[in-house]
Amino acid sequence: MVTPTIREAAREAPIVDRSDVVVVGGGPAGIAAAVSAARNGASVTLIERYPYLGGLASGGMVLVLDDMHNGTEVTVQGICMEMIERMRTLGLCVTPPEADRQPGIRETEAMWRKWARWGLFDFHTHSMPHPICFAAAFDPDAFKRVSYDVTGGAGVKLRAHSWFSAAIVEDRTIKGVVCETKEGRQAILGDVVIDATGDLDVAAAAGASHQDSSFILTTVSRWGGVDTDRAEAFEFDQPAEFAKLDHEAKRIIGGCWNFWWLKTPLPGVVWLNCPHIPKLSGLRVADLTTAELEGRARMEKLMDFARANLPGFENAYVVDFAPQTGVRQTRMLQGEYVVTKEDVMSRRHFADTVCRGRDYYTPYRALLPREVDQLLVAGRHYSATPQAQKSSREIPPCMAMGEAAGVAAAVALNAGVTVRRADVGAIQRTLRAQGADPGDVPSANATFLEAAE
Ligand SMILES: Cc1cc2nc3c(=O)[nH]c(=O)nc-3n(C[C@H](O)[C@H](O)[C@H](O)COP(=O)(O)OP(=O)(O)OC[C@H]3O[C@@H](n4cnc5c(N)ncnc54)[C@H](O)[C@@H]3O)c2cc1C
Repeated sequence: MVTPTIREAAREAPIVDRSDVVVVGGGPAGIAAAVSAARNGASVTLIERYPYLGGLASGGMVLVLDDMHNGTEVTVQGICMEMIERMRTLGLCVTPPEADRQPGIRETEAMWRKWARWGLFDFHTHSMPHPICFAAAFDPDAFKRVSYDVTGGAGVKLRAHSWFSAAIVEDRTIKGVVCETKEGRQAILGDVVIDATGDLDVAAAAGASHQDSSFILTTVSRWGGVDTDRAEAFEFDQPAEFAKLDHEAKRIIGGCWNFWWLKTPLPGVVWLNCPHIPKLSGLRVADLTTAELEGRARMEKLMDFARANLPGFENAYVVDFAPQTGVRQTRMLQGEYVVTKEDVMSRRHFADTVCRGRDYYTPYRALLPREVDQLLVAGRHYSATPQAQKSSREIPPCMAMGEAAGVAAAVALNAGVTVRRADVGAIQRTLRAQGADPGDVPSANATFLEAAE
């Protein structure tokens, strides 16, 4: 059936702001992009649809920063690490100390027992127990607080409650964006626009090639009143009994990772990164509504079961459900280079690498749309195949991408060239100078395919 339509009248939108760099989306990638562009001298406006910053890391209550350690070194530094340190200072972020991450120690049962329920281990290894690695369990409100500190400290102009709705494009060049607000539609102009919406809203509207995709949706929540010491003692001391009950809990959830609850820095409060609901799109209103209702219904059943059966959960209660639906993948840019799963898995290194994740590298070209000038993308919608994105979309690598995009915008503006022509060597050097690791120096186990690039 063809959906009937109406014709909207053309409208005027006031130009309410103008900056060198306009970043759309105040999630992990957008925060890092805005801060790094501003610290390198650009005037920056950061646009966010919700009242708060942090995206999935705060509103989505995704509470472990991982994929930033390759077994021997921490591979994501820069603004991500700065935010971890700031949250640690607030007492709202937990990371395994270096002593627990030493070879010969990180793989032991003792370390597993200490860190498994924090989720601070390398789940990419096949060996059990999984080795402990550098990762961070944090509080969602701490992420918001620290986001305001770093963006405010860098002089970023924040426009919250502003929902991007249209791209202003002239002669293949983006000139700014239009947002829906309580005050009506508003235009914000910029010399460079960075799309950090996670769903490629800006680049798609501007006409950039992309691939529509989807992955599981999750209705994340937190429970309080959990005696985590008692729950862990039961799990490790009575493994057979635990396995039976855990199996039934997973049947009720109907889709989750192996650890359906993890500890948080708040005593007695656990993070539930479940249930996983497949075959729904993070772009469709009906599907997002279904995820909320279906997810809550499943978790209510789980709560009844846990309170009645699981040691440590007798007095559990719901603290909150995440205000933002857990959407992992929607539109993927098809940019100047499309990163493949093989690139990620073989740790392929590129001459124009500007950031890295766990043990993989991202070329600058994967942040550049083919068809639109002065537009960069950063975050989970970067130019990659859906399969590649599944293993390269965690928060720290998205922040590293954002930091690189912000630097690239500033480097291009300072040199008076387009972002497509930005000097990659200058981007890499600037990133190093500000404490980031652009991945320009490959690890010993990296592979190369420069000729086919
Ligand atoms: C359930 C779940 C569990 C996960 N588990 C982990 C994990 O354990 N560890 C980990 O590191 N990663 C995890 N991830 C992945 C990670 O959360 C994301 O890939 C990461 O947050 C992507 O960052 P981003 O900045 O690209 O996008 P997002 O976090 O999605 O941020 C996008 C921002 O843009 C804003 N925005 C979107 N559209 C508009 C618009 N039209 N106008 C204005 N603003 C807009 C959003 O409100 C948001 O603030 C998980 C993801 C999910 C969904």
